[in-house]
Amino acid sequence: MAKSTTDEYLANNRQYAEGHALHKPAYPGKQPIQPARRVAVVACMDARLDVEDLLGLQTGDAHIIRNAGGVVTDDAIRCLVISHHLLDTNEIILIHHTRCGMLAFTDDLLKTGLEGDPAAEKLLGQATNRAFKSCQKCASTPAQFHAFRGAIEPLDAPRSAASTERLQWDVRRGMSSILNHPWLPTSGPDAVTVRGFVYDVDTGLLEEVAYPGPMGSFG
Ligand SMILES: [Zn+2]
Repeated sequence: MAKSTTDEYLANNRQYAEGHALHKPAYPGKQPIQPARRVAVVACMDARLDVEDLLGLQTGDAHIIRNAGGVVTDDAIRCLVISHHLLDTNEIILIHHTRCGMLAFTDDLLKTGLEGDPAAEKLLGQATNRAFKSCQKCASTPAQFHAFRGAIEPLDAPRSAASTERLQWDVRRGMSSILNHPWLPTSGPDAVTVRGFVYDVDTGLLEEVAYPGPMGSFG
């Protein structure tokens, strides 16, 4: 099979992890609106991820969609539909990462803490090492924070088998959401491809997530 752009970026990532800088920061001159390499990346907003650098992207290559967790939310889907159908991208790359903050809370914990529950306020304060200040108010949005499924762990804990599995679950859920969305074709002449990765913030390396596979458990 022909090498995809994603494969090329994976090779770039190995160079990045070894200390090479592939992304050129200078203004590249006039460029078309369509991403030159036809790639759309969905990645976590974590300050330790520099998506251009870690993939060796150049200005103009790709769309980069970032949010807390790199979760395939409603808004990420909105961006991907526009990216593909109007701006001609055809390879989607999902990037979650080790030590992600989304491993360290649950939606219920954060919501009850924001609404004023003293126990949640205390737990969140301990978990984040800052004084968590409850707002004592309820809000209808955001309806979800999309904290990762599974037993929570301390903020910024070193990776473990359990946390790696939780990250992989969420990458697969994102891949599944994309692969099953009616407006993101995954077969035929206008198909998009999707590959998912966990980025290790302690090594600089991307690790591919096998798909299909487990997407979560109550246990
Ligand atoms: Zn994160």
